[in-house]
Amino acid sequence: MDFKLLGKGIIKAELEVLTGMRIGGATGGLKIGGLDLNVITDPTGKPYIPGSSLKGKLRSLIERKEAANNPNFWNDPEEKPTRHMCKEEKDYVKCPVCKIWGILGTDKFTVSTLTRLIVCDSYLDESSITEEMRANLELKWTEVKFETAINRITGTALSGSLRQAERVPAGARFKDVELIYNIYEEGDKDILVNVFIAMELLEQDYLGGMGSRGYGRVAFRNIEVYWNTHQDYEQGNVELRLDRMINPGLDTPSKLVANFAFLKEKLK
Ligand SMILES: [Zn+2]
Repeated sequence: MDFKLLGKGIIKAELEVLTGMRIGGATGGLKIGGLDLNVITDPTGKPYIPGSSLKGKLRSLIERKEAANNPNFWNDPEEKPTRHMCKEEKDYVKCPVCKIWGILGTDKFTVSTLTRLIVCDSYLDESSITEEMRANLELKWTEVKFETAINRITGTALSGSLRQAERVPAGARFKDVELIYNIYEEGDKDILVNVFIAMELLEQDYLGGMGSRGYGRVAFRNIEVYWNTHQDYEQGNVELRLDRMINPGLDTPSKLVANFAFLKEKLK
């Protein structure tokens, strides 16, 4: 089957950190200031959110939601939490998770298994770290918290378990969050809602590590959605101007989910 690109939905947003967030960097070797757990940084030393981290988290949230309605969803139910991936073409064609987030090892499939969703890296908006915040930071852009590993049975700290964890502080914002959604067939327009549902679920969950300790609450701000058809690309008409935005007033994941029918009408 031949799939040609019908168009691209482009979702732009900012991401605000509501509670200290830790997306881990490389461990060992490049420890800065004796930190045990450092955050991932861009080449200029500022924390950033790798697109792969955000994309993977959104996938895992949708996987959990789908699994709640389908006992056969996990590939290996014995080993939870596990990853879902369709093994059969008949399942894949109905599976929003694999269609949107991608799938591996599909040599024997006869349908196109092009990944719909691309998530870009997003970078710290330096101006979100105010002078007042900076006065309380241990490092230039981040804070350092002492964390203990707790013995789950006795509830006491394990000896020698005090670790220093670097976190992006509450109030920090990441700019240029961008999710690109490729539409290859009409049905892709319907399943786009899953991207907004995943974003909504993320706001009730956490991004990065140590979520069980309250780390990593985040919220999307100022969401803008654009729609570029393949003709727009052929005509060079792809500037993301506000007058081409298709989600006026729908600037949060919840509003986009609740009004998805309205948004879908614009994908023409
Ligand atoms: Zn699947």
